[in-house]
Amino acid sequence: MSFQEAIWQTRHGYLKQCKPDLPVLFFNPQKLTETAKLFQDHFPGLVTYAVKANPDPKVIKTLIASGVTSFDVASPVEIDLIKGIAPNATLHYHNPIRSVSEIKHAVSNNIRCYSVDRMAELEKLVEYAPEGAEISVRLKLDLEGAAYDFGSKFGANSNDCITLLKRLKNSNYRTSMTFHPGTQCTDPKAWALYIKACSDIALKAGCTLERLNVGGGFPSFREKSKPDLIAFFQTIQSAVEHHFKINIPELVCEPGRSISADSYSLATRVKTLDKNDIFLNDGVYSGLTEFRDIGPVDRYNTITSDGVQKMGNTAHYTIFGPTCDSLDQLPESLSLPSTIEEGDYILFENMGAYVKSITTQFNGYGHFKEIMISNTEL
Ligand SMILES: *Cc1c(COP(=O)(O)O)cnc(C)c1O
Repeated sequence: MSFQEAIWQTRHGYLKQCKPDLPVLFFNPQKLTETAKLFQDHFPGLVTYAVKANPDPKVIKTLIASGVTSFDVASPVEIDLIKGIAPNATLHYHNPIRSVSEIKHAVSNNIRCYSVDRMAELEKLVEYAPEGAEISVRLKLDLEGAAYDFGSKFGANSNDCITLLKRLKNSNYRTSMTFHPGTQCTDPKAWALYIKACSDIALKAGCTLERLNVGGGFPSFREKSKPDLIAFFQTIQSAVEHHFKINIPELVCEPGRSISADSYSLATRVKTLDKNDIFLNDGVYSGLTEFRDIGPVDRYNTITSDGVQKMGNTAHYTIFGPTCDSLDQLPESLSLPSTIEEGDYILFENMGAYVKSITTQFNGYGHFKEIMISNTEL
């Protein structure tokens, strides 16, 4: 998969001229820069980018050019990727489960920030991570509000966090806390509740937190209205001031989705149509993989192969992907113009997170044409 040299001005223009038969991922670096700057200008602390959301070197380079210096990585491959592009970047290794050889790889790459959610893993870090490194204890609360709850896999409950913090108190590590409210979390209250819980836990453990990493999970523009990220940042800032009062920890965030999602869109093509069944050239094994888990994006349009947007009466269509597996079907129908026909494109917005990084090439599909565009609207 490589980018074509030419930068196209509009997506419609590209579809009209090239009539691509493969699914097309459009990348708009200007949108990525705008979102990265919004985080950096308004988040009251350090902004790190969670690489797993979209590890494409073009994305990483655009973020670095926008001033991002720090990255959240979860594996040796992600470490090597970022070090290869930006040897001086600061890396936070925030996958709380690591084999000894993974820890050694991180240490040899000079990584000085780790997260932890259980004692056996903390003892491994104490044995192998250099003194003076930061260890962030990861909290998990039972909260709703996210599209998909990462918290159910990682994170310690409050009592276990206290035990972990007490273990760190007499060590030579910098002590911090972290949490992740779940991806595409549309309720800022989740952050306020986590921040309050972290301050209670630190108090009970008798610990001053150096930093508080409020995770990723920030919403992207997946739904009909654009989330007001600045309101989320204000909620975070006032919760930290209110609950910590003195010894206010420095803040860090590690968004993936909300930084990368809106800089990509995906054009899929109708291969055939049979009453209200549509067969597309892309499905849940590749570009539409997240739709199976968290539902379709709300923002999509139908474009003719002449690059014109179809409007008018709509109907509900069942959407199938191109592979021969009957699981390759969207969990919900899509509302599309009733004039939709073979050869038309469905253009999905907000496809820059957890798309390329999760795509499989099952059954020979999952190959994209990648096109860079410069116009942010069309
Ligand atoms: C995946 C992940 C992120 C990014 O989450 P988004 O919902 O994409 O913002 C941040 N931190 C950690 C530890 C993660 O595992």
